[in-house]
Amino acid sequence: MSQTAPLNADLHCHSIISDGTLSPEELALRAHQNGVQVWSLTDHDVLGGQERARLAAENLGMTYLAGVEISISWMNQTVHIVGLGLDHGNAVLEEGLRATRDGRGLRARQMAAQLEQVGIQNSYEGALHFAGNPELIARTHFARFLVEQKICSNMDEVFRKYLIAGKPGYVSHRWASLDEAVSWIRGAGGEAVIAHPGRYKLNTMQMDELYARFKDLGGSGIEVVTGSHSPDQYKTYAKIAERYGFMASRGSDFHDPHESNIDLGLLPHLPEHLKPIWSVFH
Ligand code: AMP
Ligand code: MN
Ligand code: MN
Ligand code: MN
Repeated sequence: MSQTAPLNADLHCHSIISDGTLSPEELALRAHQNGVQVWSLTDHDVLGGQERARLAAENLGMTYLAGVEISISWMNQTVHIVGLGLDHGNAVLEEGLRATRDGRGLRARQMAAQLEQVGIQNSYEGALHFAGNPELIARTHFARFLVEQKICSNMDEVFRKYLIAGKPGYVSHRWASLDEAVSWIRGAGGEAVIAHPGRYKLNTMQMDELYARFKDLGGSGIEVVTGSHSPDQYKTYAKIAERYGFMASRGSDFHDPHESNIDLGLLPHLPEHLKPIWSVFH
């Protein structure tokens, strides 16, 4: 029996428009060189790179799905919802994302004030230099500044010591709601996907509630193979996909050649029995 090889899809990464370091064009080329056939740029809460990403992808012969990764608050935790195959010109989506970005500048100033209390000066200016725009400052930009200043030797160390709950430099933040994120994505004709479910500090009951509510709202996918999961977690979330009838997604969550553990497209394929989310767009 002949079997067709699975498509190489990478449906999660970040450009310089949010907290990645490569341009949409550089990412498209890198994805293509690594064998990616279906690609999506999913910047945090912003659609500014979509037109460039689509053009670059299509010039290289890749199928492009317009994407975004929306920050939401769920049970006092930050959760990320990826939207795929959406109309990136949708006005409601664009306005919702603008409102979501709105709080980042103030949060960054509060983070810097806390870091100053532990002796780290000028981190707002430092992070802004990396971000380029206060609306898009992320913890990633603070982490790059602390590494540049040799306060920490790598990004992981910055997050462990400074940027997570309970550490100086962490400021809790209210993002969009789950209902809003899913309705913006659905309203723009896209599929909503729970990003890297293995990363959340939620217990089993809370995760079950997240899956059930997400499904009720019209959410259809879950990331199974991602740069944030271990091989054991691929199995765990494959089972969740089956149990809830979610389609499965695959994405590196690539940000930068030196920072990211997994490069664009260079991940294991999805377990065969799962329905790939990109199959709805073919
Ligand atoms: P924010 O949206 O400002 O809360 O920043 C979240 C971003 O921080 C994520 O999208 C990741 O890019 C980055 N991040 C979170 N944890 C880590 C980590 N341990 N190491 C490197 N980057 C991280
Ligand atoms: Mn990021
Ligand atoms: Mn994420
Ligand atoms: Mn991401």
